[in-house]
Amino acid sequence: MLCDKCASIYNLNGLVDIGENCEICHGIWDRLELRDLPSQRVSIRVIGFDDSKYLLQPRSTLSAAIKEELKSKYTLQIDNTDPDVYIDVSPDGIKIRKAELFIFGRYWKLRNNISQKRWPGKGIPSIEGIIGRELIKIYGGNKYFMHASGREDIDAFNIAGRPFVMEIHEPVRYDVSPGIIQSQGIVAVIYGRVRRIMRTLVSDSHFDKSYICYHKELSDEEISTLSSSPVLRISQYTPSRVEHRRALKTRYRKIYRIRAFRNFSYIYAEAGAYIKEFFHGDKGRTSPCISSILNREINCDTLIVSRLYDRFVDILYNRYRLDSFH
Ligand SMILES: [Zn+2]
Repeated sequence: MLCDKCASIYNLNGLVDIGENCEICHGIWDRLELRDLPSQRVSIRVIGFDDSKYLLQPRSTLSAAIKEELKSKYTLQIDNTDPDVYIDVSPDGIKIRKAELFIFGRYWKLRNNISQKRWPGKGIPSIEGIIGRELIKIYGGNKYFMHASGREDIDAFNIAGRPFVMEIHEPVRYDVSPGIIQSQGIVAVIYGRVRRIMRTLVSDSHFDKSYICYHKELSDEEISTLSSSPVLRISQYTPSRVEHRRALKTRYRKIYRIRAFRNFSYIYAEAGAYIKEFFHGDKGRTSPCISSILNREINCDTLIVSRLYDRFVDILYNRYRLDSFH
Protein backbone atom coordinates (compact mmCIF):
# COMPACT_ATOMS: atom_id res chain seq x y z
CA MET A 1 0.00 0.00 0.00
CA LEU A 2 1.27 3.44 -0.93
CA CYS A 3 0.12 6.95 -0.18
CA ASP A 4 -1.23 9.19 -2.94
CA LYS A 5 1.93 11.18 -3.13
CA CYS A 6 4.34 8.24 -3.36
CA ALA A 7 2.12 6.51 -5.93
CA SER A 8 2.37 9.56 -8.11
CA ILE A 9 6.11 10.06 -7.53
CA TYR A 10 6.75 6.46 -8.60
CA ASN A 11 4.25 6.56 -11.49
CA LEU A 12 2.12 3.80 -9.92
CA ASN A 13 -1.31 5.43 -9.99
CA GLY A 14 -3.92 2.76 -10.69
CA LEU A 15 -1.40 -0.02 -10.21
CA VAL A 16 -1.25 -0.18 -6.39
CA ASP A 17 -3.59 0.13 -3.40
CA ILE A 18 -3.75 3.65 -2.06
CA GLY A 19 -4.01 4.24 1.68
CA GLU A 20 -2.59 5.76 4.84
CA ASN A 21 0.08 3.19 5.72
CA CYS A 22 2.56 3.89 2.96
CA GLU A 23 5.26 1.24 2.68
CA ILE A 24 7.77 3.59 1.08
CA CYS A 25 7.58 6.81 3.06
CA HIS A 26 5.95 5.64 6.33
CA GLY A 27 4.00 8.89 6.38
CA ILE A 28 7.06 11.14 6.19
CA TRP A 29 5.16 13.77 4.16
CA ASP A 30 3.19 14.80 7.26
CA ARG A 31 6.33 15.02 9.36
CA LEU A 32 8.51 17.29 7.23
CA GLU A 33 8.76 20.04 9.86
CA LEU A 34 11.89 22.11 10.42
CA ARG A 35 11.81 23.91 13.75
CA ASP A 36 14.41 26.27 15.24
CA LEU A 37 16.88 26.04 12.38
CA PRO A 38 19.95 28.05 13.47
CA SER A 39 20.70 28.85 9.83
CA GLN A 40 19.18 28.38 6.37
CA ARG A 41 22.41 27.07 4.82
CA VAL A 42 21.70 23.34 4.85
CA SER A 43 22.60 19.98 3.40
CA ILE A 44 19.73 17.48 3.19
CA ARG A 45 20.30 13.72 3.28
CA VAL A 46 17.50 11.21 2.72
CA ILE A 47 18.37 7.82 4.20
CA GLY A 48 16.85 4.48 5.16
CA PHE A 49 13.79 4.36 2.89
CA ASP A 50 13.28 1.09 1.06
CA ASP A 51 11.57 1.53 -2.30
CA SER A 52 13.20 -1.38 -4.10
CA LYS A 53 9.88 -3.23 -4.52
CA TYR A 54 8.28 -0.32 -6.34
CA LEU A 55 11.14 0.93 -8.38
CA LEU A 56 10.24 1.10 -12.05
CA GLN A 57 12.98 3.63 -12.77
CA PRO A 58 16.68 3.03 -12.23
CA ARG A 59 16.96 5.60 -9.44
CA SER A 60 14.78 6.47 -6.50
CA THR A 61 12.96 9.75 -6.80
CA LEU A 62 11.84 9.92 -3.17
CA SER A 63 15.04 11.70 -2.14
CA ALA A 64 14.58 14.41 -4.78
CA ALA A 65 10.88 14.80 -3.94
CA ILE A 66 11.54 15.22 -0.20
CA LYS A 67 14.24 17.81 -0.89
CA GLU A 68 11.89 19.68 -3.23
CA GLU A 69 9.12 19.63 -0.63
CA LEU A 70 11.41 21.03 2.09
CA LYS A 71 12.74 23.71 -0.24
CA SER A 72 9.24 24.80 -1.17
CA LYS A 73 8.05 24.94 2.47
CA TYR A 74 11.10 26.75 3.84
CA THR A 75 13.63 29.24 2.52
CA LEU A 76 16.72 27.06 2.32
CA GLN A 77 20.10 27.57 0.77
CA ILE A 78 21.56 24.21 -0.19
CA ASP A 79 25.31 23.90 0.40
CA ASN A 80 26.53 20.33 0.41
CA THR A 81 30.20 21.22 1.03
CA ASP A 82 29.90 23.70 3.91
CA PRO A 83 26.39 23.71 5.33
CA ASP A 84 25.56 25.15 8.74
CA VAL A 85 23.04 22.39 9.36
CA TYR A 86 22.79 18.77 8.24
CA ILE A 87 19.19 17.64 7.86
CA ASP A 88 18.80 13.86 7.88
CA VAL A 89 15.41 12.58 6.75
CA SER A 90 14.71 8.92 7.55
CA PRO A 91 11.57 6.83 8.23
CA ASP A 92 12.00 7.82 11.90
CA GLY A 93 11.58 11.49 11.05
CA ILE A 94 13.92 14.47 10.77
CA LYS A 95 17.20 14.82 12.62
CA ILE A 96 19.09 18.11 12.63
CA ARG A 97 22.82 18.23 13.28
CA LYS A 98 24.69 21.52 13.48
CA ALA A 99 27.91 21.82 11.48
CA GLU A 100 31.07 23.29 12.94
CA LEU A 101 31.81 26.96 12.46
CA PHE A 102 35.26 27.91 11.12
CA ILE A 103 36.55 31.42 11.77
CA PHE A 104 39.70 32.86 10.20
CA GLY A 105 41.89 35.39 11.96
CA ARG A 106 45.41 36.42 12.92
CA TYR A 107 46.79 36.78 16.42
CA TRP A 108 49.54 38.92 17.91
CA LYS A 109 51.34 37.72 21.04
CA LEU A 110 52.50 40.71 23.04
CA ARG A 111 53.52 38.85 26.18
CA ASN A 112 55.49 35.79 27.14
CA ASN A 113 54.82 32.79 29.35
CA ILE A 114 51.74 31.73 27.45
CA SER A 115 51.38 28.60 25.37
CA GLN A 116 49.63 28.47 22.04
CA LYS A 117 47.44 25.43 22.72
CA ARG A 118 45.61 24.58 25.91
CA TRP A 119 47.84 22.42 28.03
CA PRO A 120 45.83 20.76 30.80
CA GLY A 121 47.54 20.72 34.18
CA LYS A 122 50.29 23.10 33.10
CA GLY A 123 48.80 26.07 34.90
CA ILE A 124 49.62 28.67 32.26
CA PRO A 125 47.14 30.46 30.02
CA SER A 126 46.88 29.67 26.32
CA ILE A 127 46.23 31.71 23.19
CA GLU A 128 43.71 29.10 22.09
CA GLY A 129 41.83 29.46 25.39
CA ILE A 130 41.80 33.26 25.38
CA ILE A 131 40.54 33.60 21.80
CA GLY A 132 38.26 30.53 21.97
CA ARG A 133 36.42 31.69 25.08
CA GLU A 134 35.80 35.14 23.61
CA LEU A 135 34.47 33.67 20.35
CA ILE A 136 32.14 31.30 22.20
CA LYS A 137 30.69 34.30 24.07
CA ILE A 138 29.73 35.74 20.69
CA TYR A 139 28.82 32.67 18.63
CA GLY A 140 27.81 30.14 21.27
CA GLY A 141 29.09 26.58 21.14
CA ASN A 142 30.41 23.98 23.52
CA LYS A 143 33.90 23.19 22.17
CA TYR A 144 36.62 25.01 20.26
CA PHE A 145 39.93 24.08 18.67
CA MET A 146 42.54 26.42 17.24
CA HIS A 147 44.41 25.46 14.04
CA ALA A 148 47.33 27.85 13.56
CA SER A 149 50.12 28.18 10.99
CA GLY A 150 53.03 27.06 13.18
CA ARG A 151 53.71 28.38 16.65
CA GLU A 152 56.05 30.46 18.77
CA ASP A 153 57.97 29.28 21.80
CA ILE A 154 56.19 29.91 25.08
CA ASP A 155 58.61 32.75 25.91
CA ALA A 156 58.72 34.33 22.43
CA PHE A 157 56.71 37.33 21.23
CA ASN A 158 54.90 37.71 17.92
CA ILE A 159 54.32 41.20 16.57
CA ALA A 160 53.81 39.92 13.01
CA GLY A 161 50.35 38.35 13.30
CA ARG A 162 49.96 34.60 12.87
CA PRO A 163 47.09 33.12 10.82
CA PHE A 164 44.72 30.70 12.52
CA VAL A 165 41.33 29.05 12.04
CA MET A 166 39.15 28.55 15.11
CA GLU A 167 36.76 25.59 14.91
CA ILE A 168 33.62 25.92 17.04
CA HIS A 169 31.23 23.06 17.74
CA GLU A 170 27.48 23.54 18.22
CA PRO A 171 27.45 27.30 17.58
CA VAL A 172 24.17 29.19 17.85
CA ARG A 173 25.12 31.75 15.21
CA TYR A 174 26.90 31.51 11.88
CA ASP A 175 27.01 35.16 10.85
CA VAL A 176 30.61 36.08 11.61
CA SER A 177 31.52 39.77 11.60
CA PRO A 178 35.05 41.17 11.51
CA GLY A 179 36.32 42.30 14.88
CA ILE A 180 39.14 42.52 17.39
CA ILE A 181 39.68 40.48 20.54
CA GLN A 182 42.08 41.84 23.11
CA SER A 183 42.83 40.06 26.36
CA GLN A 184 45.81 39.21 28.56
CA GLY A 185 48.41 40.43 26.07
CA ILE A 186 46.86 38.65 23.11
CA VAL A 187 45.31 40.57 20.25
CA ALA A 188 43.33 38.69 17.62
CA VAL A 189 41.84 40.17 14.49
CA ILE A 190 38.81 38.26 13.25
CA TYR A 191 38.40 38.43 9.47
CA GLY A 192 35.34 36.26 8.91
CA ARG A 193 33.88 32.85 8.35
CA VAL A 194 35.65 30.36 6.09
CA ARG A 195 35.00 27.00 4.50
CA ARG A 196 36.15 23.85 6.28
CA ILE A 197 39.08 23.35 3.89
CA MET A 198 40.80 26.46 5.33
CA ARG A 199 41.42 24.58 8.58
CA THR A 200 43.88 22.27 6.83
CA LEU A 201 45.29 24.87 4.46
CA VAL A 202 46.17 27.19 7.33
CA SER A 203 47.58 24.57 9.69
CA ASP A 204 49.70 23.06 6.90
CA SER A 205 51.20 26.36 5.77
CA HIS A 206 54.78 27.45 6.49
CA PHE A 207 56.36 30.84 6.01
CA ASP A 208 59.70 32.52 5.84
CA LYS A 209 59.98 34.89 8.78
CA SER A 210 61.89 37.84 10.17
CA TYR A 211 62.88 37.98 13.80
CA ILE A 212 64.27 40.48 16.25
CA CYS A 213 66.64 38.78 18.68
CA TYR A 214 67.93 40.57 21.78
CA HIS A 215 71.35 39.44 22.95
CA LYS A 216 74.42 40.50 24.95
CA GLU A 217 76.50 43.36 23.57
CA LEU A 218 78.40 42.83 20.35
CA SER A 219 81.66 44.55 19.46
CA ASP A 220 81.96 46.70 16.32
CA GLU A 221 83.89 43.94 14.64
CA GLU A 222 81.26 41.33 15.52
CA ILE A 223 78.51 43.60 14.24
CA SER A 224 80.25 43.97 10.94
CA THR A 225 81.11 40.24 10.67
CA LEU A 226 77.47 39.23 11.16
CA SER A 227 75.93 41.95 9.02
CA SER A 228 78.19 41.17 6.08
CA SER A 229 77.69 37.41 6.16
CA PRO A 230 76.36 35.91 2.93
CA VAL A 231 73.24 33.75 2.74
CA LEU A 232 73.96 30.88 5.11
CA ARG A 233 72.86 27.32 4.64
CA ILE A 234 72.66 25.83 8.11
CA SER A 235 72.09 22.25 9.15
CA GLN A 236 69.91 21.71 12.20
CA TYR A 237 69.59 18.38 13.88
CA THR A 238 66.30 18.24 15.85
CA PRO A 239 66.84 20.60 18.83
CA SER A 240 67.12 18.93 22.21
CA ARG A 241 64.22 21.01 23.59
CA VAL A 242 61.71 19.67 21.02
CA GLU A 243 63.07 16.16 20.46
CA HIS A 244 60.16 14.63 22.41
CA ARG A 245 57.67 15.81 19.77
CA ARG A 246 59.66 16.10 16.53
CA ALA A 247 61.21 13.45 14.32
CA LEU A 248 64.94 13.11 14.88
CA LYS A 249 66.64 14.23 11.69
CA THR A 250 68.84 16.86 10.14
CA ARG A 251 67.07 19.75 8.40
CA TYR A 252 68.74 22.24 6.09
CA ARG A 253 67.55 25.84 6.25
CA LYS A 254 68.67 29.16 4.85
CA ILE A 255 69.42 32.28 6.84
CA TYR A 256 68.87 34.90 4.16
CA ARG A 257 70.10 37.94 6.03
CA ILE A 258 71.44 39.15 9.35
CA ARG A 259 71.56 42.79 10.37
CA ALA A 260 73.34 43.10 13.68
CA PHE A 261 73.24 45.99 16.12
CA ARG A 262 74.76 46.41 19.58
CA ASN A 263 72.04 44.61 21.59
CA PHE A 264 69.81 43.03 18.99
CA SER A 265 69.83 41.60 15.50
CA TYR A 266 67.35 41.19 12.71
CA ILE A 267 67.33 37.70 11.24
CA TYR A 268 65.50 36.87 8.03
CA ALA A 269 65.17 33.09 7.81
CA GLU A 270 63.61 30.32 5.80
CA ALA A 271 60.46 28.66 7.14
CA GLY A 272 61.24 26.06 9.79
CA ALA A 273 64.61 27.43 10.99
CA TYR A 274 65.12 27.24 14.75
CA ILE A 275 66.43 30.69 15.66
CA LYS A 276 67.52 30.22 19.28
CA GLU A 277 69.57 27.22 18.19
CA PHE A 278 71.03 29.30 15.38
CA PHE A 279 72.50 31.51 18.14
CA HIS A 280 73.88 29.02 20.65
CA GLY A 281 74.38 26.03 18.33
CA ASP A 282 72.66 23.49 20.59
CA LYS A 283 75.92 21.67 21.44
CA GLY A 284 76.86 21.23 17.81
CA ARG A 285 73.43 20.17 16.55
CA THR A 286 73.06 23.47 14.58
CA SER A 287 75.94 24.43 12.34
CA PRO A 288 77.13 26.98 11.52
CA CYS A 289 75.67 29.16 14.27
CA ILE A 290 76.27 32.69 15.49
CA SER A 291 78.38 31.41 18.41
CA SER A 292 80.61 29.47 16.01
CA ILE A 293 80.89 32.42 13.61
CA LEU A 294 81.92 34.80 16.45
CA ASN A 295 83.87 32.12 18.25
CA ARG A 296 82.19 32.81 21.60
CA GLU A 297 79.01 31.73 23.32
CA ILE A 298 76.05 33.97 22.52
CA ASN A 299 72.33 33.46 23.16
CA CYS A 300 69.12 34.94 21.89
CA ASP A 301 67.66 36.19 25.18
CA THR A 302 64.37 37.51 23.79
CA LEU A 303 62.89 36.31 20.53
CA ILE A 304 60.31 38.35 18.65
CA VAL A 305 58.65 37.18 15.44
CA SER A 306 58.53 40.48 13.59
CA ARG A 307 57.25 39.46 10.18
CA LEU A 308 55.61 36.45 8.54
CA TYR A 309 55.72 36.30 4.75
CA ASP A 310 52.18 34.97 4.63
CA ARG A 311 50.36 37.08 2.07
CA PHE A 312 49.18 34.03 0.17
CA VAL A 313 46.96 33.22 3.15
CA ASP A 314 44.96 36.33 2.29
CA ILE A 315 44.52 34.96 -1.21
CA LEU A 316 43.25 31.69 0.31
CA TYR A 317 40.93 33.65 2.58
CA ASN A 318 39.43 35.52 -0.34
CA ARG A 319 38.88 32.24 -2.14
CA TYR A 320 37.39 30.29 0.78
CA ARG A 321 35.57 32.91 2.81
CA LEU A 322 31.96 32.02 3.46
CA ASP A 323 29.64 34.96 3.60
CA SER A 324 26.56 34.36 5.66
CA PHE A 325 23.18 33.87 4.10
CA HIS A 326 20.40 36.13 5.33
ZN1 LIG B 1 4.23 7.55 0.84
